[in-house]
Amino acid sequence: MQITIVGGGVIGLFSAWHLAKAGHEVSVVDKGDFSDNCSFGNAGMVTPSHFVPLAAPGVVAQGLRWMFRADSPFYIRPRLNVELMKWLWRFYRSCNARQAEAAMPVLLDFNLLGKKGYLEFEKETGLDFKLRKEGILMLYKDAHVEKEELEMAEKASALGLEPKVLTATEVADFEKGVELDVRGGVFYPADAYMYPNILMKLLKEKLGEKGVRFYPNTEIAGFELKGNKIGALKSSSQYFEADAFLIAAGSWTGKLLKKAGIHLPLQDGKGYSVTLKKPAHRPQHACILVEARVAVTPMGDDLRFAGTLELSGLAAGVNRRRVQAILDSIPQYFPKFEMPQTDPGSAWYGYRPCTPDGLPYIGYLRKYENLMVATGHAMMGLSLGPATGMLVEQLIAGNPDERYAKFFDPNRYL
Ligand SMILES: Cc1cc2nc3c(=O)[nH]c(=O)nc-3n(C[C@H](O)[C@H](O)[C@H](O)COP(=O)(O)OP(=O)(O)OC[C@H]3O[C@@H](n4cnc5c(N)ncnc54)[C@H](O)[C@@H]3O)c2cc1C
Repeated sequence: MQITIVGGGVIGLFSAWHLAKAGHEVSVVDKGDFSDNCSFGNAGMVTPSHFVPLAAPGVVAQGLRWMFRADSPFYIRPRLNVELMKWLWRFYRSCNARQAEAAMPVLLDFNLLGKKGYLEFEKETGLDFKLRKEGILMLYKDAHVEKEELEMAEKASALGLEPKVLTATEVADFEKGVELDVRGGVFYPADAYMYPNILMKLLKEKLGEKGVRFYPNTEIAGFELKGNKIGALKSSSQYFEADAFLIAAGSWTGKLLKKAGIHLPLQDGKGYSVTLKKPAHRPQHACILVEARVAVTPMGDDLRFAGTLELSGLAAGVNRRRVQAILDSIPQYFPKFEMPQTDPGSAWYGYRPCTPDGLPYIGYLRKYENLMVATGHAMMGLSLGPATGMLVEQLIAGNPDERYAKFFDPNRYL
């Protein structure tokens, strides 16, 4: 089958990988040059430990508290926008225990499938994208956060993960790269991490070897309709015909699908990262500084700090205060870490595609027989890339894993 994918992020490329392996003729079109998007500058974490959807009990109250602090890890750019209001209302409605509890085992299994996908991909291709399979540490300083993290560890144990709760001394024994000032931590051995920029570059090269065709700097601006099918995708100068089309355009997916009369609720969760090149000393293990909501990831010889979620309406530019808050959080946990002079304005940023219930959209859109979507992975797009690719290939083959197809049905708000 001929399949055209819009979007060369981790979701589009892993979909291309699984489709090409199944023998399909695949093209990937991107408005950029495949050298940067949300899939490059992220924290590089593969996180079965993140099985709670973004929309969960307590999130709204916490979000409201953060809204009024200029340096908080969450922010909504104030604007009168009907789509944002509707999205927030749906998000609010999804933040309940019943929905979150139902989603947790599904997200966990999909995350584990994603991790398995990375292990298989590494083995099959022999590519070195600095994958480290040695777990991730959650670090906390406050008693009430410790209580929340221990409750989370209990939930994780009940679902079959094997988290280890560590005292401050045990954390110090485990993490010898830097001195720590924390109350304790929870270690999730099933988690992993990598250098996503290297993954993306190598994955694209491998796809090229498999015969996948790439169309850089080509923005898809509309659809040619053929009854209840899409006949072609249109850019300003080209038509892309195919048997099936996959829209994996990240945070831009909602905007593009409107051109086909489909109104998919999606907001962008902008986040920032700063990468230090070969710092003299650094943590040996990847960790999340829980109160600060900052991820710290060793990537090869480099070290990356990442955080913040702003519903920004795809606004360009860096919010320097929020980047500074990420940088300022580091010495609070690593008091002796020598932070080089860093201009917050030079931070990388990307837009996480966020759905109102925190679950991705993966599947056929019922309005057109041959139009699929794969997006909305929010904080977990890197983790879930390979699993999403597998599900997309199953959907094309007509034999999807029904549990995932049901939970991630993109028609649930249409
Ligand atoms: C600071 C930060 C840290 C993160 N950390 C992690 C982490 O540790 N682990 C994890 O799992 N996830 C993490 N994420 C989330 C993860 O990066 C995203 O979920 C993921 O990259 C989304 O991938 P995507 O392919 O859907 O979108 P993208 O990577 O944004 O790709 C979409 C592509 O579509 C193209 N496109 C859009 N519209 C069009 C059009 N009309 N025509 C042609 N092309 C188009 C864009 O140019 C872009 O290249 C993080 C995100 C951020 C911001």
